[in-house]
Amino acid sequence: WSAWRLRSIRDHIRTIVDFPHEGILFRDVTTLFADPRGFRMAIDQLLHPWAGSRIDKVVGLEARGFILGGAVAHQLSVGFVPIRKKGKLPGPTIAEHYTLEYGEAVVEIHDDALQPGEKVLIVDDLLATGGTCAAGIRLVERLGAEVVGCAFVVDLPDLGGHALLDRMGMNVHTLCA
Ligand code: AMP
Repeated sequence: WSAWRLRSIRDHIRTIVDFPHEGILFRDVTTLFADPRGFRMAIDQLLHPWAGSRIDKVVGLEARGFILGGAVAHQLSVGFVPIRKKGKLPGPTIAEHYTLEYGEAVVEIHDDALQPGEKVLIVDDLLATGGTCAAGIRLVERLGAEVVGCAFVVDLPDLGGHALLDRMGMNVHTLCA
């Protein structure tokens, strides 16, 4: 039953070759989101390891982490906080820089979005190098909150993100590779 569910999540994800650049295999989760059973299964499975744990906020990483994180936060009856690319959040923010394959990126969080001591679950669609999530963890921790887990639908372990988050002592949960 459980293996059937895992296979079925992966089967709903489409791979687009050479997007957005040549050589990239883009894992397109919009086909999973569009399927009523697939989307519900993904949300249920993202939540599963944290049943019974204290979580005060779900933090979603732009942009597909907003779709997943919003549904997860609703299911847990907790608030949702977005981490966005630079310049998108309207209020006062703090920022973290991280390196991409070519160049650098910056993510931001509102500086009053989390309270010290709050327990946070970070959600995104896909874990590749882990750079985005690591920057998100630093933002959460700078506000004095604690990351209790990081949940992703897709893991690309060859790109090193899972190992990076393990080295940071994170609890990482992924649904398929
Ligand atoms: P990273 O910071 O390298 O772990 O990259 C994670 C972020 O980039 C996530 O928000 C993903 O949505 C996106 N991403 C990276 N690689 C891919 C890929 N092959 N397919 C789809 N999204 C990707």
